Amino acid sequence: MLLKDKVVVITGASRGIGRAAALECAKQGADVVIAHSGRPTGNDAAQSLIIEIQAIGRRAIDVGADSASLDTGELIIHEAVKAFDKIDVFVNNAGICPFHSFLDMSKDLYMQTVNTNLNGAYFAVQAAANQMKKQGNGGSIIAVSSISALVGGGMQTHYTPTKAGLLSLMQSCAVALGEYGIRCNAVLPGTIATDINKEDLADKEKFNYMSSRTCLGRLGVPEDIAGPIVFLASDMASYVTGASLLVDGGLFVNLQ
Ligand code: NAP
Repeated sequence: MLLKDKVVVITGASRGIGRAAALECAKQGADVVIAHSGRPTGNDAAQSLIIEIQAIGRRAIDVGADSASLDTGELIIHEAVKAFDKIDVFVNNAGICPFHSFLDMSKDLYMQTVNTNLNGAYFAVQAAANQMKKQGNGGSIIAVSSISALVGGGMQTHYTPTKAGLLSLMQSCAVALGEYGIRCNAVLPGTIATDINKEDLADKEKFNYMSSRTCLGRLGVPEDIAGPIVFLASDMASYVTGASLLVDGGLFVNLQ
């Protein structure tokens, strides 16, 4: 019960990493706000997650809104406080990674990626921080960045800058918000098998190659990221701020 009676808000919680994190937070005693895109698949997935969370005795609501909008963060925090009176943890996780080559990158795809992953996130973090400051009890903000914040990818030139941006945002926000007891940290997943890379990893050769690149000999699953998120959210991490936690099965260090 590391998060007993805390209110945790997670964006992109209908599927993948966010969903696993939402479920683990509930198991650890938290009430959860499940934010998603509002598209039909997100709505259905969020409803089934609410039922799972209620079955373990915790409360959950969902909010569907496009993370690319600069107003979405305020909306999510407003709905969270309306439902649960406070927020203790904000996890900025929503993101897209539409693999595409650099030389013919369209302005539309670039802007969609940067808006969805980073620009909306900036103001979502701001909205969460203002609410936590108002409450006066500190809080924990976590950005789901990526190993891609540290290394490049030829098909990810629009994506990697957003992940480096989120890491940098957490470092600067740790400085800006320390005086309010608000901790800000980044989680950097390696390759985790989810819908985001389903097409890419459908190529068996690529799947086997990526698995063999890790020290542990396997790709990650969403649950592998849930524990580190719970840790950073919890009071176990009360002196951890401005940090980044690489959770990649040893992919980064495995040069040869
Ligand atoms: P996923 O399974 O595709 O889930 C993406 C989540 O983000 C869904 O809940 C989706 O909601 C939401 N989302 C997508 N576009 C949105 C939008 N415009 N507005 C609001 N919500 C939106 O992806 P994932 O692998 O769990 O990725 C989660 C985060 O982890 C991303 O930020 C990603 O960059 C990061 N990450 C993933 C990996 C990996 O290997 N999987 C590695 C490093 C970092 P809907 O259901 O409504 O579409």
